[in-house]
Amino acid sequence: MIRQFELVEQVKSYDINADEEALNRAYVFSMKAHGNQKRASGDPYFLHPLEVAGILTDYKLDAATIITALLHDTIEDTLATEEEIAALFGPEIARLVEGVTKLTLIEMQSDHAKQAENFGKLLVAMSEDIRVLLVKLADRLHNMRTLHFIKNEDKRRRIAKETMEIFAPLAERIGMQEMKNELEDLAFAEINPEARQSIVARLDYLREEGGDLVSRINDELTATLKAGGVKADIHGREKLPYSIWRKMQFKNVAFEQLSDVMAFRIIVGSVEDCYRALGIIHSTYRVVPGRFKDYISTAKPNGYRSIHTGVLGPDQHRIEIQIKTLDMHEIADNGVAAHWTYKQKAGKTEGRQYRWLRELLDILEHAAGPEEFLEHTKLEMFQDQVFCFSPRGDLINMPQGATPVDFAYAVHSEVGDRCVGAKVNGRMVPLRSELQNGDQVEILTSKAQTPSPTWERFVVTGKARARIRRFIHSQEKEQYVQLGRAILQRAFREEGYEFTEKALTGVLKVFKQGSSDDLTAQVGAGHVSARDVVEAVFPATKKSRDDKVVPIDQIKKKPAKGKGNGKDENAIAIKGLIPGMAVHYAGCCHPLPGDRIVGIITTGKGVTIHTIDCETLETYADTPERWLDVSWQKGSELPDYHVGRIHLTVVNEPGSLGTLSMVIGRNEGNISNLKITNRTREFFDLLIDVEVRDVKHLADIIAALRATPAINTVERARG
Ligand code: MN
Repeated sequence: MIRQFELVEQVKSYDINADEEALNRAYVFSMKAHGNQKRASGDPYFLHPLEVAGILTDYKLDAATIITALLHDTIEDTLATEEEIAALFGPEIARLVEGVTKLTLIEMQSDHAKQAENFGKLLVAMSEDIRVLLVKLADRLHNMRTLHFIKNEDKRRRIAKETMEIFAPLAERIGMQEMKNELEDLAFAEINPEARQSIVARLDYLREEGGDLVSRINDELTATLKAGGVKADIHGREKLPYSIWRKMQFKNVAFEQLSDVMAFRIIVGSVEDCYRALGIIHSTYRVVPGRFKDYISTAKPNGYRSIHTGVLGPDQHRIEIQIKTLDMHEIADNGVAAHWTYKQKAGKTEGRQYRWLRELLDILEHAAGPEEFLEHTKLEMFQDQVFCFSPRGDLINMPQGATPVDFAYAVHSEVGDRCVGAKVNGRMVPLRSELQNGDQVEILTSKAQTPSPTWERFVVTGKARARIRRFIHSQEKEQYVQLGRAILQRAFREEGYEFTEKALTGVLKVFKQGSSDDLTAQVGAGHVSARDVVEAVFPATKKSRDDKVVPIDQIKKKPAKGKGNGKDENAIAIKGLIPGMAVHYAGCCHPLPGDRIVGIITTGKGVTIHTIDCETLETYADTPERWLDVSWQKGSELPDYHVGRIHLTVVNEPGSLGTLSMVIGRNEGNISNLKITNRTREFFDLLIDVEVRDVKHLADIIAALRATPAINTVERARG
C-alpha cells in the first residue's frame, strides 16, 4: 500500500507546484468515505482508489488527475455527494469526479450494449476532459489486475471480454501502448487461460535453454552500436503472451516455429542517430525480409513514429528492433498522458501529435478561464455522432442532430410508426427535439398513431425517412384505390352491371395483381383500363362488342397501358424530319397535334419534339444547329392518341376524384397517369396525363373540368 507521503512525494517529483495540501485532503477524505468497505480480495476498499492514483503517477499526470483518482468511487459507492466534493476540492475536481462517475454508470447500464466499438466511442464522447478517460482506464487496469479475486465466473468473463473489446482498443486509440498491452494480456488470462499458459511454458523453456538471453543480447547490441559511434539506451524484453498469441494466430505459425519473442528498443539522441543506428544494425546482422518499416519519415495516422526492423541478431536469435528518440518513445508508450507532461514543461509541444490533441493542448495553453477550458476540452473525435440509451440500456448510435423519431425507428419500425411522444431522461419532450450524448430515451406509442409527413422534415436517419415515405406512398395508394373504384363503378354500370369488389377476385391473376385493392389502385393510377377489367370479368361484353377474343397479352400492349410519359417511338407523322430518325415527345411540355412545335436533335437519341413555348428550349438557345423546323403532317397516319398533361387543384372531399375521372371519361379522355403532388386539408394538387386526339380535344376536356364545381383550377402543364 502506498502511503500518504509517498504518493505526495511521487507527484511532487514531476510537478513541483502540485497542491500538496489538496492531495492530503483527498487521501483522507477517500479513506474515511470508503470506511470499512472491502474489495473482493478482502482488502480495504480504499486500496483500490489509491492504486489507481499510483498508476496515474507513473504517467506523471497532474495533481487534479491524481486527486480525481483518489475520489473516483466516492460519489457512486459512498455517502459523499458532488456538492461536498465541490465545496472541499473546488469545481474542477468536482467535474472530473462526476465525469468518471458518469462513465461508471453508463458502463453498468450497458450490459446490453452489443456494439463494442460504439460503446468505446461513447466513453470517449462522454469524457468531456481527457483526464476523465485516463482515470477510467487506470481504474479498469487495477480492476483487471485484481480480477482473479472475483468469485463469479460469468462476471469475470464479462469484464475480461469488455476489457478486450472496449478498453484495450481505447487505450491504443489514445496512444497508450503499454497500458493496452497489459489490459489485453490480463483479459487473455481470463478468456483463454490454457492458451496463455502454454505460451508462458514455452517462454520458460526458452529461458532455461538460453539463460538470460535478453540481457546478453542487450549487451552485445550496446557494444555494436558503441563501436559504430552511436550512444544508445537499449531496453530488451520478452513480449507479453497475448501479443505472441495474436502473432501466431495472425501468421498461422505453429507453436514450435515461434522464435521472435524478444523485442528491443533502441533509444538514441536524435533522428539522425536513428538512421545511423539502423545502418550499423543492418550491416552487422542479417535482415529478416519484410520487417523493415520507417515510421519516422512517414508517421502512423495516430502520430506514432519509430523505425522497425527484424534481424537474426546475436547467436542467430531472431529479434525485433525499434529505433527511436526519447520523445518519440514517450509519445508511443504513454500517448495522451505524455502530453500532459509536456503541458507542464511550458511551451514544449511537439508538432507530431494527433491533430485533435494538438488543438486540445493549444486550447489548454490559451484558455481564459476554467469555463472556457471545459467548453473546449470536450473531445471532438466523434462530433458527428450521438449515442443514446433505451430504458433497457441498449445503446443506439445515430448521426448528430437525431431526434426521438429517429431513435424510435432505430429501435423498431413499428415503434417509429406508432410514436406519439418521447421522454428524455424522464422528461417529456417534443418529437423534433435534438438528442444529446448519453440521453436515455423512452418512446411513447399509440396504436392509433401513423407516421406524419411533417416528421420527414426533421428526421436525419435514412431508416426513419424511408419508413415515413413508404407510409405516405401507401396513403397515396389509398387515393388511387378511391379513384379506381369510381372509374370501375362507372364502367360496370355502362355495361349494366353492379360493381362489387368480389367481382375482381376472379381476374386478379390476369392482371398480375395480389388483391382487389391493388387492381383498383392500378385502374386509379391509369396502368390498367377499366374496360379491360370489365371485359375480363364478363368476357361476353367483349364478344358482343367485336366478336373477336383478344388474348390478354395483346390487350396489355394497347397504348392505354403506356407509362404515360408521352414518348412514342413510332410517331413519324411529322414534317421536316430526316427519314428513319427516332422521335420522342418531350415529357416537359407534352406536345399535341395542333400545337406549334420544334424538334431538338439529341445525340444518340434522335429528335425530341417540344411545343414552341416550352421553357426547356432556353437550354438550347446557344446551339441553334440542333434546332429542327418541324410541323404536324395532316392526314397522315398519326397514332390515334397523344398524351397531354394537365395540372389541377381539386377540393378534398369524398367523391371529388370520382367526379374528376367521370368528367374526363365523358369527354373521351383516358387517364393514363395520375400523381398527387400536394395534399392539404382543403385541396389536392394533381398532375394528370390524359390520352387525347389533339390539342383541341385537350382544350375541350379542360373546359369541361373548369365547369365542374369540385375542381378549383385546371391548366395545361408546361415545362
Ligand atoms: Mn474504481
